Amino acid sequence: AATADQQDVVVIGGGPGGYVAAIKGAQLGLKVTCVEGRGTLGGTCLNVGCIPSKALLHASHLYHDANHTMAKHGISVGEVSIDVAKMMEQKSKSVSGLTKGIEGLFKKNKVTYAKGWGSLTSTPGEVVVAKEDGTTQTISAKNIILATGSEPAALPGVEVDEETIVTSTGALDLKEVPKRMVVIGGGVIGLELGSVWSRLGSQVTVIEFAKDICPPMDAQMRKTFERSLKKQGFKFMMEKKVTGATKTQTGVTLTVEPSAGGEAVEVEADVVLVATGRKPFTSGLGLEAAGVEVNKRGQVVVDMHTYATSKPGVFAIGDIVEGPMLAHKAEEEGISCVEQLAGKVGHVNYDVIPSIIYTHPEVAWCGKTEEEVKATGAEYNVGTFPFAANSRARTNDDSEGMVKFISCKHTDKILGAHIVGPNAGELLGECVLAMEYGGSTEDIARTCHGHPTLSEAIKEAALATGGKPIHF
Ligand code: FAD
Repeated sequence: AATADQQDVVVIGGGPGGYVAAIKGAQLGLKVTCVEGRGTLGGTCLNVGCIPSKALLHASHLYHDANHTMAKHGISVGEVSIDVAKMMEQKSKSVSGLTKGIEGLFKKNKVTYAKGWGSLTSTPGEVVVAKEDGTTQTISAKNIILATGSEPAALPGVEVDEETIVTSTGALDLKEVPKRMVVIGGGVIGLELGSVWSRLGSQVTVIEFAKDICPPMDAQMRKTFERSLKKQGFKFMMEKKVTGATKTQTGVTLTVEPSAGGEAVEVEADVVLVATGRKPFTSGLGLEAAGVEVNKRGQVVVDMHTYATSKPGVFAIGDIVEGPMLAHKAEEEGISCVEQLAGKVGHVNYDVIPSIIYTHPEVAWCGKTEEEVKATGAEYNVGTFPFAANSRARTNDDSEGMVKFISCKHTDKILGAHIVGPNAGELLGECVLAMEYGGSTEDIARTCHGHPTLSEAIKEAALATGGKPIHF
């Protein structure tokens, strides 16, 4: 095995946490190598996560619009059909364009890309890369950042084959539209991918263990969201657990029981999507050999400010550490971690991390829910504004949902911003910025917003917080 020059930083994993850390590190003057084994950069996010799912959400939304909403605007498109293979081809194009783009960014920023699976050894500062051709390379590093991400969690009794019983990865690559799809797990991934296939014609049933879908959501917003999903044809079996799956000639028979135990029923499906969560991916990483501590959930234990693990010189970020499994959270941690390694100040504000569900309408929020604020005993104001009273939403005939602010009764500082509605994810941006700056709803309400835009609903909800909106 060849020994390369010592690197300032070796990042293991080329997902949004790892590749962003590598680029930022190089921009700060550090000598950086990024090790990635899957053959393409971008990690779960670009290859089998955020990006392909949004490509399919976009395509299926176009199909749904052509089928259901265009005629209302006087546009007739004749019979609308879906070519799933073509849709997948377009999805793959966006994925490969973006993953190759990161390779370009590595070259531009002089990050060395080591293709292969990296592991730690008992020698401090050593990373061994097992390459595709069977050879190994040993790299010496002053600092190592672990950014190996996550993988779908298994569900006992339900064996995945990625064809009829699929994880999100298989659901992003189905060959045809299933007649009946059962989604196990009413979280973000299940609802987004359920939406894709529902819009294309599947009857989607969501089986959820808990009382509510998407537990961290503001209750009022969840109600609005649930109503909208039901209107779209989603069926929900709440407080139920799947205890077994048997493959039949035509699909799958699931055994479903009440969460608390009780009489089982059978549910038939053509395709079952297991979306019951994700777990840190650290297999083959050599954590034990190197003496890096993990917790009971398999997460690498770190100081959430420095990202230092229990082993000096080894750091960890992204989905393998605690906190929400989100690409932008992983990126922020990557940047903060290398800033500190470069002797600068780095910080992630965990109170202001946006959450977005890319269904239609979208759901987006940042900060605390009303229930969380209430539980602190703090006095607060609430302001809401419906998109039905927003002129742009009305001209687009896309006015489901609302905006909600929760602010401190005494200082008006924004404690939580919640949106269900068209483009909610993009609209949340100004709320996140205001919150990062410690802003108040009055700051937003006094800021001139372009007319007619959806963003005026944000301004109006801000006006409504402790006061009155103009248009409602
Ligand atoms: P990952 O992206 O998982 O990257 C880790 C990389 O490390 C992988 O490429 C892996 O091959 C590599 N690796 C692992 N072990 C080794 C090793 N030993 N040697 C070399 N390489 C290794 N998040 C959002 O913010 N927005 C979304 O809209 C969104 N949508 C999603 C949709 C789906 C269907 C899924 C599954 C996830 C979605 N996520 C979304 C979550 C997001 O993808 C993750 O939070 C994010 O990718 C985590 O980044 P990461 O860098 O920590 O890990």
